[in-house]
Amino acid sequence: MIRVKKTRRVPAALQTADVTAALHALEAGYDAAPAACRAPRNQLLHVPATLYNIPAIKARLIADQKEKCCYCEGKLLHIGYGDVEHYRPKNGFKQSPTTKLEKPGYYWLAYQWTNLLFTCKRCNGGHKRNYFPLANHPAGRAYCHHDDLGQEQPLLLHPVLDNPADHIRFRRAVAVGKTARGRATITICGLNRKHTLERRRTHLAHMESHDLMADKDITTMSATDLAREIAKCGTAQALVRRILQARAIRDQAALDSAEYAGMVRANFPLLPQR
Ligand SMILES: [Zn+2]
Repeated sequence: MIRVKKTRRVPAALQTADVTAALHALEAGYDAAPAACRAPRNQLLHVPATLYNIPAIKARLIADQKEKCCYCEGKLLHIGYGDVEHYRPKNGFKQSPTTKLEKPGYYWLAYQWTNLLFTCKRCNGGHKRNYFPLANHPAGRAYCHHDDLGQEQPLLLHPVLDNPADHIRFRRAVAVGKTARGRATITICGLNRKHTLERRRTHLAHMESHDLMADKDITTMSATDLAREIAKCGTAQALVRRILQARAIRDQAALDSAEYAGMVRANFPLLPQR
């Protein structure tokens, strides 16, 4: 997980009369029957996906996030479409995975640009779901559009508003919390789940191999080492190409656009990051 620089300008698709009307309907719906909206399992403030889960919004999020899930940093577009996800869940929330879903969700943020992110299905649908714990639940919780969201102390890191590197470090490929928020985020999103961890381990092994090759200098190598490296690559020209290729790969591995850049930055702190 790395910090995401999101376009500040709100997409036009979120500033339409339909979106304004839908938001007003949700807020009026709550004001008309607050107790009913808080009842378990009610569907009174259900938010349909038709106004936010649309190509114009999704394309902006995907571009801002360099085609990566904002939580696990997996590049997923070659195998799936990904989700437009709500940081604060729109239809209901849970303080812990074992407690019941509380209603309503953050309906008033359903169409708010800062609350929308692009994620993979494993982070969003498999792990996070409606889980949105606060360090100060229930006292600090905003339950409706009249409450002060600024009082909330979310445990889940926000990829745009927080710097994940302040909260999550890596022990090689394993994400480790530096703070309570970092630990919570790893748990909420399943950042050390089996297959993601395997991918990061493989990526790290490749990076270490490229790093070794990138550091080779044929002008200072012993004759024996040079002969061995040339034998591995076939020709001297191929060896030079391989070294240059390794340097190019290494130079791009910690950029915002790189898969698992957070882990790479932690393991190779001197690489260019933007
Ligand atoms: Zn993910």
